[in-house]
Amino acid sequence: MFFYIFEFVKDQIKKELAKLIRSFNRKGWSPATSTNYSFRISEEPNTIVVSRSGIDKAYFTKDDFIEVNRKGEALPAFESQRPSAETLIHCSIYDLFPQAQFVLHSHSVYPVLWSMKLQEQIIFQGYEVQKGFDGQKSHLDEVCIPILENSQNMVEFSTWMENRSAEFTNHCFLIKGHGTYAWGKTLFEAKRHLETLDYLCELEWKRNFESK
Ligand SMILES: [Zn+2]
Repeated sequence: MFFYIFEFVKDQIKKELAKLIRSFNRKGWSPATSTNYSFRISEEPNTIVVSRSGIDKAYFTKDDFIEVNRKGEALPAFESQRPSAETLIHCSIYDLFPQAQFVLHSHSVYPVLWSMKLQEQIIFQGYEVQKGFDGQKSHLDEVCIPILENSQNMVEFSTWMENRSAEFTNHCFLIKGHGTYAWGKTLFEAKRHLETLDYLCELEWKRNFESK
């Protein structure tokens, strides 16, 4: 009985997330089949539902998710399908931040531009939209978002994340030359975090390099 309820709940979330993935694609945030997305439901904390690798995000549907365990290994029903190489980043976020239920990833342009200019972090101050990050109360505060090195070795990358986990107070980070990750307790919140980060990166870039 519970099995069917959980499956129904997951199906509804898959539909909602697939719709969001297609809308992010329309913004140019997932070129050339890139990026990945995941969620879990509180009743099944050890199962992560993650987007399948190599799918054109313009056509992503609720049937393009697979289920993996906390180590990123496909569950038996999904063994024939390949999880994305970056699934382990999702697993690390769920391990480090138990409240996270949704993880979103973007390859949008402005965060990547900043990540190639800066080293350890990007700092925003003075923008109303900073309050889009859960916990931020005023535009006057400094908001620091960590930048991590890129790596194809996901075990190494997970160790870097763990070492810097205290810096992830705004529920997101940048990866050098790569993109952004953001998470939240709900899909609404995770989306808000990702959009807040992207908007601030674009604004700050234009203020620094495009305004006369
Ligand atoms: Zn990526």
